[in-house]
Amino acid sequence: MASSEEFDVVVVGGGPGGSTLAALVAMQGSRVLLLEQEFFPRYQIGESLLPSTVHGICRLIGVADEIAQAGFPLKRGGTFRWGARPEPWTFSFSISPTLAAPTSFAYQVERAKFDHILLNNAKRVGVDVREGCTVNDVLDESDRVCGVCYTDPEGGQHDVRATYVVDASGNKSRLHQAVGGVRKYSEFFRSLALFGYFEGGKRLPEPNSGNILSVAFGSGWFWYIPLSETLTSVGAVVRREDAKKIQGDPEQALKALIAECPLISDHLSAATRVTEGQYGQIRVRKDYSYHNTRFWRPGMILIGDAACFVDPVFSSGVHLATYSALLAARSINSILAGTVEEKPALEEFEARYRREYGVFYEFLTAFYEMNRDEDSYFWQAKKVTGNTHTELESFVELVGGASSREFALTQASDLADRFRSSSAEFAGAIDTIADSATGNMTPMFRSSIVRQAMQEGGQVQMRAQFGASAGQEKPVFQGGLVPSLDGMFWVVPGE
Ligand SMILES: Cc1cc2nc3c(=O)[nH]c(=O)nc-3n(C[C@H](O)[C@H](O)[C@H](O)COP(=O)(O)OP(=O)(O)OC[C@H]3O[C@@H](n4cnc5c(N)ncnc54)[C@H](O)[C@@H]3O)c2cc1C
Repeated sequence: MASSEEFDVVVVGGGPGGSTLAALVAMQGSRVLLLEQEFFPRYQIGESLLPSTVHGICRLIGVADEIAQAGFPLKRGGTFRWGARPEPWTFSFSISPTLAAPTSFAYQVERAKFDHILLNNAKRVGVDVREGCTVNDVLDESDRVCGVCYTDPEGGQHDVRATYVVDASGNKSRLHQAVGGVRKYSEFFRSLALFGYFEGGKRLPEPNSGNILSVAFGSGWFWYIPLSETLTSVGAVVRREDAKKIQGDPEQALKALIAECPLISDHLSAATRVTEGQYGQIRVRKDYSYHNTRFWRPGMILIGDAACFVDPVFSSGVHLATYSALLAARSINSILAGTVEEKPALEEFEARYRREYGVFYEFLTAFYEMNRDEDSYFWQAKKVTGNTHTELESFVELVGGASSREFALTQASDLADRFRSSSAEFAGAIDTIADSATGNMTPMFRSSIVRQAMQEGGQVQMRAQFGASAGQEKPVFQGGLVPSLDGMFWVVPGE
């Protein structure tokens, strides 16, 4: 056993949830270790993103420009052949004032590339990233989780101690039970997915060629996601009662399902299935809709798919993973800074995460009722979000990942600017008094007096920039906390 190391936070898993959380905590000067069992780039499903992720979270962690230059197809909205109406209908993110231009689009991404960009960014902001390292268990001490044990690529066994362990290891998490809850599978979303990749499929007419196309058919529904000018991700989500349709040879099963669906057959009429490389395999996923009864216990937090997942239909997975990462990072940052106690900080994280998951869950339950038309779906979106906008705008806000109205998801550029300028100003001010021998300023960042000074500085700066309207967000729950002005911490409202 190698000698034990110590960190502020150990993150298990380098998917979008883990990389985002690790970056947001390391950006405050804390010591973060991220352990990932694979070597990146690695394959993952979940390719259609939402505007709140690419313009909100990606801006906050500093990768929005790199993502914009990566050449991913632009997703302006979604096109659906769904519900009672026989013709396809399209929604555009630009209809919502909350997602107004220039942020009214997202990307369709090859996850191997997208996740790699996020992981490299975590390294860049100071996270100690170790690939090929599998976490086997958590370490417990006096009713707290206090670290993990892992196996390195050479088979070496290690213990690492940390103030917090964050399980971001996805739907196959083997650690989630350590928070003391159980994973409950949804009785409603009991589907299976069968998916593969095609070259040469048709595109929707401009300006919607980058849209996700979702098509309901007799046995379930198809996703059709353009990943480049020629490559398309195609998946059938099949009801549990029709599970036998995806048993046996997967190639034949996918062919038969495509033949059942005229719109997808037409789009693939001149296409060939990719049979080599990361996209060469036809894959199956089942039992993917669940939530854990607990999201944290002292010393340990679950985020992303390790905590819950609803359903692929509105591409909410990466949004929920990265948004939960932001919520948890705020809690950890505040606790480590000594400005908020562990219990209220983590209760705020869990309550907001469950609320966001709940909005998607409730809305999607109604969306699967196929005898309705789209107006009825829009009405349902307004109902579950409690939004004051029109029904169509409420729908677009919900499926754009912006129904929480968090500034961090809709006005992230302002928050990122605020974070940069307050950090720069602060770092400059303490340069003269920092310990020049070690250059280690972490204890300074953690001091509550320093944090308060930063908060006040930020307030003044924001008022100057945005005027009186630039107030704090309101608490979502009675007696709850609100995000700090730079989006990185929780604060008591009015403080
Ligand atoms: C059929 C289907 C279609 C989907 N389509 C979409 C979509 O279009 N859009 C969308 O946003 N979402 C979609 N999703 C959801 C999406 O795949 C997930 O929500 C998202 O990947 C979750 O991110 P994460 O960071 O929580 O976990 P992951 O992306 O799963 O990352 C977890 C990481 O942890 C690592 N890991 C696991 N165990 C260990 C361990 N013991 N030690 C160290 N590392 C470990 C893994 O190697 C992995 O890299 C879909 C899901 C399904 C099932």
